[in-house]
Parts: sequence; structure tokens; C-alpha cells
Amino acid sequence: MGPLAIFFCLASGAMWLWTRKHRTAFELEICSAVICSALFSNTLIHLLVGFEAENLMYFAIMMPAFAMMTPNLRIAIFWTVLCVGAMLVIVHINLPSMFTEYVSVGIAGALGAAGATTLVRGAIFNAVSARLEAVKEREEALRISVKDTLTALPNRRSFFDAFEDRLDGLREDGRKFLLILIDLDGFKPVNDVYGHSTGDDLLRAVSGRLLAASPRGAMVARLGGDEFALLADHRAQTNEVRRIASRLVDALALPYSLPAGVVRISGSAGVYVCDRGELECSAMIERADHALYRAKNARPGEAVVFSDLDEVDLANVNHVDRCLRQADLEKEMSLVFQPQFDLVNQRVSGFEALGRWNSAQLGAVPPSIFIAAAERTTQMSRVTHILLGKALKAMESLPKDARLAINLSAHDLMSESNVQKIAEQIRLSGVDASRLELEITETAMLDDQDFAARSLGELQACGVSIALDDFGSGYSNFSYLQRLHVSKLKIDRSFVKPLMSEASAAKILRTLISLSKSLNMECVVEGIEKPEEMAYATAFGARYLQGFLLAKPMPAEEVPDFMARVPAWIEQMRDQVGEVDIDAAMPQPALNLSTIRRAQS
Ligand code: C2E
Ligand code: MG
Ligand code: MG
Repeated sequence: MGPLAIFFCLASGAMWLWTRKHRTAFELEICSAVICSALFSNTLIHLLVGFEAENLMYFAIMMPAFAMMTPNLRIAIFWTVLCVGAMLVIVHINLPSMFTEYVSVGIAGALGAAGATTLVRGAIFNAVSARLEAVKEREEALRISVKDTLTALPNRRSFFDAFEDRLDGLREDGRKFLLILIDLDGFKPVNDVYGHSTGDDLLRAVSGRLLAASPRGAMVARLGGDEFALLADHRAQTNEVRRIASRLVDALALPYSLPAGVVRISGSAGVYVCDRGELECSAMIERADHALYRAKNARPGEAVVFSDLDEVDLANVNHVDRCLRQADLEKEMSLVFQPQFDLVNQRVSGFEALGRWNSAQLGAVPPSIFIAAAERTTQMSRVTHILLGKALKAMESLPKDARLAINLSAHDLMSESNVQKIAEQIRLSGVDASRLELEITETAMLDDQDFAARSLGELQACGVSIALDDFGSGYSNFSYLQRLHVSKLKIDRSFVKPLMSEASAAKILRTLISLSKSLNMECVVEGIEKPEEMAYATAFGARYLQGFLLAKPMPAEEVPDFMARVPAWIEQMRDQVGEVDIDAAMPQPALNLSTIRRAQS
């Protein structure tokens, strides 16, 4: 019996080791069957070879032990019945006088087995279900943290994880890859006009198309809002890169049949071939973003591949950013003032303050460059604070009956603290705020109209009025113009420039001017360079004009001289514009200044 017991001990030990790894329920059943059989046969053989009454107790002990060991309830019952049966048979053969007592022992053992199995199974069941629940929750949390909940595409986080992996691949094995950033053109209007649920449908449709049009093995992710990104292998030549990117933007430009109706948008793409392992992720994103910026500005709806020329461009951009950060802006920045004319009263009705930066390192930097740099480098509020301070100071010397318009960037309105700072600066300056007009662009109001409304409300509370700059050049949802209490629309030069070359341009300009009238808003036509343009604008009923023909922006010191020349200048304009012969086909004939005045009074 000794060697047998040792053998079974070793076998049980081996089984224990075996069960330490993850096993299936069937494997565990086999394992428990082997152990139970070993223990059972050990006892049985022992009793058959030499009967000793006290060894019968082993059956009673084995019953709860087996019940706890077997994963399956039916097998636990089987072993309990087998133990009771074997014990009673042996008792019946060897100790018939004690049969009744051993029946009681059998019942006690079976009850013990039932109790043990209930307790152990209950505990195991609870532990397992708690574990499963935790696993499920973890998996769900993981799923949410890596997937975009709206489109089910990988989200920003998993995109950057995959990006890091690709970058490791590039550095270790030279595996080049493509980074494509995609931004939708015209998504916001759809969201505003049709509502958010249609916007969501559209984003889902866009992600489906991107997946279908992307090359095999590519990862398409949603970075947020209407921005998507794609990572793909790069084995081929530039032509292939263009083909891949074009397929994506072409797919996005097809019409979308949504429950709310058929919608058309497009997507612009910026492509960077990631082939320089020394660059970090952020530098690669910056390059793709630069290409995307070029696509959005010059070729919306198309893909632009980052080129060597862009590399030079980007270096310049970074240089400007650095110079702006280091500059003494209080000293280097100044304002020039461009007059605005009121044709009805034939006088200068106001000035627009335009920022100038004369950088110690770069020389004169145009506002289009330094405003963009300030926005990029989160220095806009510093620039605005300095320029606003100079503008408020200049109001002391500007004609008292003229208003002053000051440009704000979209970034100035993005945070509550910026808006409060601007309002505070205006209040503390002690200027007559009714002479002050703040110009904001349409894009400043697109992202969060409620927030824009609150910001503008706070500024208006100081007594300033709001003008909408570059009106018509972006996207105008006319309904919000009145909600935001905009009092003036400034029609961009892009509507004036084509007047002489495009037949539809005159109609569009006229429509914009009459739109502002019907909305009860003042209207300034900007960028008047030629007498013909002025003639058109006046013929269409524009009252306020601004442009190089009338006056170029000038430093504050030149304003008094300029004001003295205004009456003579009006005479000269009257002649020039009066001579212009506007196409006879135009709905309204050319009008000179005095005719306009009569018509409007
Ligand atoms: P904007 O507010 O639409 O300003 C009008 C721009 O048109 C000015 O350019 C002005 O010089 C120019 N302009 C005026 N008349 C004519 C014309 O007849 N023909 C042409 N081709 N252009 C004309 P500028 O000064 O280069 O400013 C460009 C833009 O930069 C401004 O457009 C404005 O959006 C922004 N900006 C200028 N100064 C500031 C500022 O102080 N703060 C902020 N946030 N933005 C500013
Ligand atoms: Mg402006
Ligand atoms: Mg403008």
C-alpha cells in the first residue's frame, strides 16, 4: 500500500502542477476524475486487501473532498453515490452487524458533501462572476478608450499609439509610412442647418467611405470633430502617394444620401511621407498639418503632399513664431488707421485700426503672417492687449465724431478670461465705448455659437458695437447674425475684385448689400481700389466704403492732414465716379455721389 500511496501522492502533485496553467472545464473534469479515482481506488484496494473497520471512515471523508474537487455537480453526485455504495457493500460483506450505523455514516457523508459543494461552489461562483464582470468592464473601458464612440473608428489615443509603433518600425527597419490628415470642408454648415443627428450620420458615412477607400492595412482614425487621420504603408513612388490620397478625397466628395436629405461636402487632405526617423511624431504631424493647411486654403477638396518647398516654408513659419515669442511687441508693434467713408453724409465716419509689426529681426511683417503666428503660438491675447491699448490711446487724437474699429481674432473670443480681459481694458481706458467697434470674423463664431453669443454679449455690455468682418467670405448662417446683435457687416474685397471680370459678381455684391439692409444692419464695402468698383458699390446702395481708392491706412499723426483734405477729395471722387459708365444691362444705372445721396435720404 505504501508504494501505491506514494505513487498517488506524486500523481496528485503532478496534477496540481498541471492545473496551475489556464485549463478548460473539460480538462479540469478529467483531472479531478483522475485524482478522485486515484484516491478512491487507493482506499478501496486497501480495504479489499486487508479489511480494517476504521479505514471505512475514509469514504466519509472522501465524499465532501470529492464534492469540492469536481467542477461538475453531476460528477460530484456520482462520486458521493459511489463512495456510499462502496462503503455499504464492504460493510455488508465484512461487518453486516454494523450496516445500519454505516448507513447513517453514509448519509452524514453525503450531507457533508452536499454542504461542502454548496458552500464551495457558491463562493467559487461569486468569485468567478465578480472576476468576469471586472474583465468585462475592463474590456469595455479599453474599447471606449481606444474607439471613437460615434464612428467606431480608432480614436485619437489609439491613433497616436499606432503612430508611435510605426515610428519605431521606421527607426528600426526603415519601414516608411504615410501620414494623411483629413479635414472636412462644409461639415459645420450641415451640422447647423440639419442638426446634430444629421451631422452624426454624416460623420459615420464619412468614416465608412474613408475605410472603403483606404489601402489595405491602413489605419483610419477620427481625431475629433471633423478631423480624420490615416496611417498606411509606403512602398511606392510619389504617384502612388497621390493616387492613395486622391482616392480618399474623391470618395468624400460624392453626394451623401442621409435620412435628412442629400448632402454634399468635401474633404481636404494633407499628406506627409514619413521617411525621416530622426523626426518626432509631433514634427511629422506638423508637416502633414502644413500640407493640409495649404490644401484647405488654396485647393479645398484636394490632397496636398508635403514637399521640399514646404519644408522651407515651414522653417520660415517656425522662425517667425520664434521671433514673435522673443520680440518686444510693445516697442515693435504699431497701428495704422484706414478711413471709412459715409457716402450719405459725405464725411469720414470712422477708421479701422490695422496692426503692424516692425520686427527687429525680420523687418515689416504683414498682419496675415503675424496674426497667424500669434494664434499658432498662443500669443494672440498678448498681441491683442498691446494693440488694443494703442488703439484706445489713439482715440484721444482721432476726430471725436469718428468711430474706431478694432480687429479681434477668433482666438480672442475663445476663452472667457480673454473676453473679460478685453472688456476690462476697454472699461479702464475711460474711452467713450460708443465710438468703439469690434470687428470679428465669421469663423470666430462658427464652432460654438452659444459661447460666441455670450462673449459678444459681455463685450457689448461695455457699450461697444460689433461688426462682422470679411462677411460672405466664409460661411454665414444668417439666422445667428441677429441673435448676436451684430450691427455692421463688412463685405470682403473678394466680392469687389471680380466685379469687372465676372458677370455674376455684381449680382452677388448687390444681394449682400440688400441683405444687410433687410437685416437692418450697416454695411461697409471693403477693398475699393478703382472708380468702377466704387460706382458699382454706390449703385447697389452701399453707404459706407473703405479701400485704397478712398484712402490707404495711415499712421495716427497723418490723420489731421488727411481730414483737412477730405472736402477736396470728395469733389475729386464725385467727378471720377460720375464718369464711370456701368454696363447698361445692370438693373440700376451708375449713380454719382449726389444721386446716391438723394436716393438714400
Ligand atoms: P481686414 O480686417 O479685412 O482689414 C482690411 C485689410 O484690407 C487690411 O489689410 C487693409 O490694409 C486692406 N485693404 C484696405 N483697402 C484695400 C484695398 O483697396 N485693396 C486691398 N487689396 N486691400 C485693402 P491688412 O492691414 O494687411 O490686414 C489684413 C488682415 O489682418 C485684416 O483684414 C485683419 O483681419 C487682420 N488684422 C489687421 N490688423 C489686425 C489687428 O490689429 N488684430 C487682428 N486680430 N487682426 C488684424
Ligand atoms: Mg477688419
Ligand atoms: Mg475685412
